Amino acid sequence: GPGTDTLLQTDGLTKRFGGFTAIDGVDFAVEEGQLRCLIGPNGAGKSTLLKLITGRHEASEGAIYYDGAEITDLRPNERVDQGIGMKFQVPSVFDDLTAFENMRLPIQRVVDGDLEPAVRDALERVDLGGQAETLAGELSHGEQGRLEIGMAAALEPDLLLLDEPVAGLSVEERDEVAELVTDLNADGIAFIVIEHDVDFVADIADDVTVLHRGAVFREGDIEAIRDDDEVRRIYLGG
Ligand code: ADP
Ligand code: MG
Repeated sequence: GPGTDTLLQTDGLTKRFGGFTAIDGVDFAVEEGQLRCLIGPNGAGKSTLLKLITGRHEASEGAIYYDGAEITDLRPNERVDQGIGMKFQVPSVFDDLTAFENMRLPIQRVVDGDLEPAVRDALERVDLGGQAETLAGELSHGEQGRLEIGMAAALEPDLLLLDEPVAGLSVEERDEVAELVTDLNADGIAFIVIEHDVDFVADIADDVTVLHRGAVFREGDIEAIRDDDEVRRIYLGG
């Protein structure tokens, strides 16, 4: 079972798609307030693992514990209510709504009464205060990413899952996302961040889990992982 400071733990978590095992007996844990990066080659099972944690995929075997209780069979919305937030790999902002209108969607789930100040604050938190009236479809890729992270953070999660939040972003935009994630983590939100870019990982995280062929291949701090010849080998397709 989970330890006292353990926020999330998976126990022998397994996901099969037909005869193919995408996640194979994974034991994986995140402590309260921890920022853990999940890396590994394409097809390693990173996105599938996050979808099992959010409940978008049903586990084939094994269990997931969150905040001391088993959540393996909870619906995605019930997990959101328990404090698990997610920004998916595919953009999920509404392009034809303004940044303000997008942000109002999660805010109205958690705030009673006057929404406007809460929406403004939430936009400020992701440095989009000046873009409130801009259609989300007209925001830059980096601004859209910050809006999405802000919308997930507005639901006041204890754990936020980000699937490749800086894919396709410029170096400048990437740095802004790194700063935002670091700030939210300093506010006490734990993270699991899937990322390919090892430099980005080094900017935000100490703790890294390497997934390979659906299993945990290595865990350690970023320096050790970066210097690990076996990790390099799997990234080169070995
Ligand atoms: P990653 O995010 O690490 O690149 P994924 O979790 O997306 O990897 O995929 C892991 C493996 O599972 C891949 O071989 C992928 O083709 C397979 N897979 C993922 N989702 C499905 C699905 N819905 N149906 C069948 N196979 C899937
Ligand atoms: Mg993926």
